[in-house]
Amino acid sequence: MPFHIAIDGPVAAGKGTISRLVAERLGFLYVDTGAMYRMTAFLAIKNKVKLNDEEGLAKLAASAKMEMRTPTEDEKDGRLSTILLDGEDVSWKIRTEKVSLGASSVAKLAKVRQLLVKKQQEIAEGQDVIMEGRDITYRVLPHADLKIFLTGSDVVRAKRRLTQLLTKGEDVSFNQVLSDLATRDEQDMTRETDPLTIVPDAVVIDTSDLSIQQVVDLIVNKANILLENK
Ligand code: C5P
Repeated sequence: MPFHIAIDGPVAAGKGTISRLVAERLGFLYVDTGAMYRMTAFLAIKNKVKLNDEEGLAKLAASAKMEMRTPTEDEKDGRLSTILLDGEDVSWKIRTEKVSLGASSVAKLAKVRQLLVKKQQEIAEGQDVIMEGRDITYRVLPHADLKIFLTGSDVVRAKRRLTQLLTKGEDVSFNQVLSDLATRDEQDMTRETDPLTIVPDAVVIDTSDLSIQQVVDLIVNKANILLENK
């Protein structure tokens, strides 16, 4: 039986960085489900499909080839995963603020969610994974062996996100990032289909005052205890 770790949490709680490191320590596959919503928004913008056109977006997402892999030696430029959309490397192109807000819009659409959830469940079938997103603990992997809800204060999360964007050369201010983060969190928590929630069996970790290494150790230790008894 494969071992599944499911991680949910709001924007910039550290899900990606922490999941990648836990994946390396345990030898698991890391799956960034947000990248799939981002790829759908990226395709919509490119093909001029409206971000509320449910049928059009579901069609785009269904026909797209979405692939993720651990970055190869040549690809190690700070990315956590290499994201391929119909064979094109879009790892950085899907990380702009425009695509982030677009992803949060397309993620409201039930048909898009159904499609992407199915793709995510297929990836997890038969292999050990650590998968992160907004609905992993109760929709994508409801029977996960370990469920984590990662969070952090708004200011700490906005600072992290600002650093990420500035490093990539985006011209944004702290206030803009804080406001975009609040918009996305609000959309993610209030949408009708699968809003971001904390399930009763999730371990809640507030990352505001913890180092990345402390959070990684915490999750790896919990996973190792469960793995020993599996
Ligand atoms: O995690 P990330 O910020 O890359 O996700 C982009 C957007 O995709 C989120 O703001 C959220 O609206 C959506 N998302 C989702 N369900 C997931 C992963 C991401 O709704 N499992």
